[in-house]
Amino acid sequence: MNDLKTKICELIALQGPLRVSTFMTLALSDEQNGYYKNEMPFGKKGDFITAPEISQMFGELIGIWVIETFYKLKKPASFTLCELGPGRGTLMQDLLRTIKKLSADCFQAANVLMVETSDKLAALQKQALSSYRDKVRWLKDFDKLPDAPLILVANEFLDALPIDQFIKIDGDWHERLITTDDNDELGFTVGNNVLDQTGLPKKYRDLPEGSVLELSPLRLEFVEKVLKHLSRHHGSALFIDYGSTGLPYGDTLQAVSRHEFKDIFANPGKDDLTSHVDFSSLEVIAKRHGILSGVITQGAFLTGLGLIERAGRLGADKSHDVQEKIRLDVERLAAPEEMGTLFKVLALSDEETGIHPLFTAEQNYRD
Ligand code: SAH
Repeated sequence: MNDLKTKICELIALQGPLRVSTFMTLALSDEQNGYYKNEMPFGKKGDFITAPEISQMFGELIGIWVIETFYKLKKPASFTLCELGPGRGTLMQDLLRTIKKLSADCFQAANVLMVETSDKLAALQKQALSSYRDKVRWLKDFDKLPDAPLILVANEFLDALPIDQFIKIDGDWHERLITTDDNDELGFTVGNNVLDQTGLPKKYRDLPEGSVLELSPLRLEFVEKVLKHLSRHHGSALFIDYGSTGLPYGDTLQAVSRHEFKDIFANPGKDDLTSHVDFSSLEVIAKRHGILSGVITQGAFLTGLGLIERAGRLGADKSHDVQEKIRLDVERLAAPEEMGTLFKVLALSDEETGIHPLFTAEQNYRD
């Protein structure tokens, strides 16, 4: 049994079954054995590959969105360019190269803030951004955002934040907890704690017995902080992740290792744990804060910003093999059967800054 699994079993023996969020927090962020403290998740040799690691075009196109937003903010003398959970720093590297090339004003005004809990990943990010040393700061605590307009990006960040799960039994939503059996194997059990349904959308009442519901107070907390900042200081944020925009329910907690799905209990701390993001509830709280929101698919977002044209320019005069690689990257990022439809982009903006037209043009992108 790995060290973290032993620790989790001991904790259950001492305190009783764990909430799913407690299990996820230990598996991902335990000081000694948490996944983000020790593993090297990204890339072909890692456990999974994220959009910025697939192709430089991803960060470049987001760079174009940043410049457009900077203009909508009426070119402030300085603004915060923040990334939540920046992984290896690849997205920010591609983005800064692009804005430096295309808009000296925007580059000049940007104060970059990287919010990262993992020291190991922050060290990699520092390497990736070494040529922008004077521009970039690292924070573990998102609460300390400076009082300035905000342009924020977060790719595959929300899916990594812990969730709690509830299961419908006799009309009530009981909390799902994690416990051990006689052989010290981890598994689900049903707790006595019942969810107060007053705040839940009515539609949940009609779901069949045995349905699973996932809630993530931590996700809401992060997004609420962004919303408050946008309403006070103006700006826009993009949250890119997999998830649905319809009525979200079902057990989406998943473990991935070396590009394969695993049993979530098999190897805590060694496998990555994530779950799908419920975009509709994020839009509901945005509205409550008076912030404009829109969700479109990653495919619609990237093609709308010029993915195909960028790919054409990038491939011009290159060898057949390089052109073929670029073509495959475009497919991976934007084709419906790849990341194009499962991944969504949530945009948030205060009214004065306004939402990018791609997000208001069309509702057909939603699932
Ligand atoms: N955005 C990157 C990495 C996604 S993985 C990419 O697309 O490649 C999730 C990232 O979020 C990691 O960098 C992880 O260390 C970071 N992270 C997880 N929980 C966090 C938290 N509570 N605060 C800040 N960063 C966090």
